[in-house]
Amino acid sequence: MRVLVTGASRGIGYAVARAFAERGDTVFATYKSTADTLPSLAKENFAGEVIPVYCDVSDEESVKALFSEIGNVDILVNNAGIAQFSLLSDISGSDWDRMLDTNLKSAFLCSKEASKGMIRRGFGRIINISSVWGIVGASCETHYSASKAGLIGFTLALAKELGPSGITVNCVSPGVIDTDMNAHLSDEDMRVLCDETPLGKIGKAENVAQAVLFFADAAFVTGENLSVGGGFGM
Ligand code: NDP
Repeated sequence: MRVLVTGASRGIGYAVARAFAERGDTVFATYKSTADTLPSLAKENFAGEVIPVYCDVSDEESVKALFSEIGNVDILVNNAGIAQFSLLSDISGSDWDRMLDTNLKSAFLCSKEASKGMIRRGFGRIINISSVWGIVGASCETHYSASKAGLIGFTLALAKELGPSGITVNCVSPGVIDTDMNAHLSDEDMRVLCDETPLGKIGKAENVAQAVLFFADAAFVTGENLSVGGGFGM
C-alpha cells in the first residue's frame, strides 16, 4: 500500500511511519521544521520503505505541491499537530488560526487531495489523529480542544460521504503519550496525569501506531473514534 503520514518527523507520526514500513508499505513521511530525523529512518532496512517529503499541512499550496510530488495514496494518516497551553484571555486571533489551520484545516486539505484518487479506485483509508481532549475538553487548551473535537465531527461526516466509494474514515484519540508535545510538563504534572490514567502509566507512540494499523486493516469499520489513553478521560 502507499501510505501518507503527516507530521512524521517526530513522536506519534514517526512511530506510525515506521510501523507501516515494517510491514511492507511505501510510506511518504512528511516533515516541516525537523528535517534531520527521517533521512536515517529512510535508510533502515524495512520490508517497505520510508520516503521523506516536506509539507506545511496548514498551507493549501504546500499540500497541493505534496500531492503533485507523491501522487495517489491508499492510506492517509492526518497526524501533524501542535498544542499550546494558554488561558482563553491570552489566546490571540492568530494563535487560534494557527491551531485550527494546523490541526483541523490540514485534515480537510489532505483528505480532499487524497480522496480524489481513492474515489477513482474505490478504496481508501483515512485515519485522523484527534485527542482525548477533543472528547472531554482541557482547561487552558480551548483552541486545541476545539480543533480536536472538530476532527471528530469531520471524521463522522466524511465517513458517511465517502463510505459509498469504499473509503473508511476513522479517528484515533490518544490520551497522554510520551512525545515532545508533553516535554514542557514537569515531573509532578506527569505524576498527576499517570494517577489519572487507570492503567497507571503514560502511553508510547507505538501504542497509538497499533490503533492506526487496526483502522488501516479494518474493512468494515468506519466513522469510529478509538481512544488510546489507558482509560484517561473516561
Ligand atoms: P510532536 O510535537 O512530537 O510532533 C508533531 C509533529 O507534527 C512533528 O512531526 C511536526 O513536524 C508536525 N507538524 C507540526 N506543525 C506542522 C505543520 N504546520 N505542517 C506539517 N507538520 C507539522 O507531537 P505528537 O507526536 O505528540 O503528536 C502527534 C499528533 O497526536 C498531534 O496531532 C497531537 O495533537 C496528537 N496527540 C498527541 C498527544 C500526546 O500526548 N502526545 C495526545 C493526544 C493527541 P516538524 O517537527 O517537522 O515541524
